[in-house]
Amino acid sequence: MRFIPTGLSAQELQLQREVREFVKDALPAGYRPGLGMGASRSPEFSKKLAERGWVGMAIPKQYGGHARTAVDRFIVTEELLSAGAPLGAHFVADRQTAPAIIKFGTDWQREFFIPKIVAGECWFSLGMSEPDAGSDLSSVRSAATRVEGGWLLNGTKIWTSGAHRNHYFAVLCRTSPSEDKHQGLSQLIVNLRGDGVEVRPIPFLNGAHEFNEVHMTDVFVPDEMMLGAEGSGWQQVTSELAYERSGPDRFLSTFGLVKYLIAERATGGLTPEQERAVGQLVARFWTIRQMSLSVARTIDDGGAPAVEASLVKDIGTRFEQRVIDVIRDVVEVQLDLDSNSTFEQLLAESVLTGPSFTLRGGTTEVLRSIVSKGLRNV
Ligand SMILES: Cc1cc2nc3c(=O)[nH]c(=O)nc-3n(C[C@H](O)[C@H](O)[C@H](O)COP(=O)(O)OP(=O)(O)OC[C@H]3O[C@@H](n4cnc5c(N)ncnc54)[C@H](O)[C@@H]3O)c2cc1C
Repeated sequence: MRFIPTGLSAQELQLQREVREFVKDALPAGYRPGLGMGASRSPEFSKKLAERGWVGMAIPKQYGGHARTAVDRFIVTEELLSAGAPLGAHFVADRQTAPAIIKFGTDWQREFFIPKIVAGECWFSLGMSEPDAGSDLSSVRSAATRVEGGWLLNGTKIWTSGAHRNHYFAVLCRTSPSEDKHQGLSQLIVNLRGDGVEVRPIPFLNGAHEFNEVHMTDVFVPDEMMLGAEGSGWQQVTSELAYERSGPDRFLSTFGLVKYLIAERATGGLTPEQERAVGQLVARFWTIRQMSLSVARTIDDGGAPAVEASLVKDIGTRFEQRVIDVIRDVVEVQLDLDSNSTFEQLLAESVLTGPSFTLRGGTTEVLRSIVSKGLRNV
C-alpha cells in the first residue's frame, strides 16, 4: 500500500480559485449549507455546474465529457463540499454511474445516458442493498427471468438514496442460479418511474426523506438496459464500489461544523481548549485530504489504488464522526435543528445523521477486511 505525497500544480491551483469564485456567486445570499454529498440538492445548481464543465469531468469527450483528470475532479468536488453546495442531484450519476456505463455499457447506453448525465439532467440511484443481504451483497434475492426482448424483474431494494427523485438505478440481481453465489448476477438499468416499480419512503431520524425501499413486481427491462455482460454483475459492482470510496465526500461531511464554529464564534474569541481542538481537527483534515489526493494522483498515473481507497474511506468516515464528538466536547450548546445559528443547525443535523457516515458505501468492518486482504497480497 502506498500513498505518494503530491501537491497541486499552478493550473490546478487556478482551477481551485475558479471554483471558489463560482461558488461565491452561484449560492444565493443566506444559503443554508448542506452536510456532504447527499444532504442538499438543486437541479438548477447541477445544471450551472454542468455548463461550467464540472459534471462528467473525467468522461471522454466523444460522449460530451471533458476528459479531465481525477485530480481536477477532486479539486472541484473538494471546493463544492467545503462550501456545503447542493450536489445531491447529479452526484451519484457523475461519480459512479457514468464511469460504470463508460466501462461496461454498450455504445447505445453510452450515447443515450452519458450526454444527459454530463448535462446534469439525468440522475441515478444505486440499486445494490437488499433486506437480509446488506454487506453480503452476493446473496441478493432480486431475480430476473428471461422473456421475449428482455427480462422480467422481481425483488426489493433497500436504503435506496434519492429513488423518489432520481430517474434510474442499476439493479444488481440474479439472472441465473449458481452454486457459486458470485456467479449468475447481472446489473439491469431500471426506470424508477416505470410500470411495476414502487418507491416507498424510509424516514431518517430527523424526519427527512432521503432513503427508500424500492419494490419491483414483474418489471419488464428490455435487453438494451442490461449493463455489461450477463453474469458479470459481481465483478462490475465491486469495481464500481471503488469509485465510491476515496474522494473528498468521504472526509468532508462535517467540515462545515469547523468552518461555521470559527465563522460564528471566533469573533468573540475561541477558548484555548476550543483553539486546541480546532487545530487538531484541521491537522487531521489536512492529512486525510493528502491521502485522498494521493489516490486521485495515482489513478491519473495509471494505478489502481483500490486498497488505499478503502483505507481512506475507513479513516475518513470515522474522522467525520469524530469531528462531531470533539466539537460537542468543547462547545456548550443545546441541539436545535431550527436554531438561528448555522453552526448550531449543522451540529444538530450531524448528530442525527452522523451514524450513517461509516455505513454508506461499505461498513468500517467490511472495508478493514478488504484492506487486510489487500495487505496480505502485497
Ligand atoms: C446514508 C446511507 C445511504 C445509503 N445509500 C444506499 C444506496 O443508495 N443504495 C444502496 O444500495 N445502499 C445504500 N446504503 C446501504 C449501505 O450500503 C448498507 O447499509 C451497507 O452496505 C451495510 O449493510 P447493512 O446495513 O445491511 O448491514 P449488515 O451488512 O447487516 O452489517 C451489520 C454489521 O455487521 C458487520 N458485518 C457484516 N458483514 C461482516 C463481515 N463479513 N465481517 C465483519 N463484520 C461484518 C457490518 O460491518 C455491520 O457493522 C446506504 C446506507 C446509508 C447508511
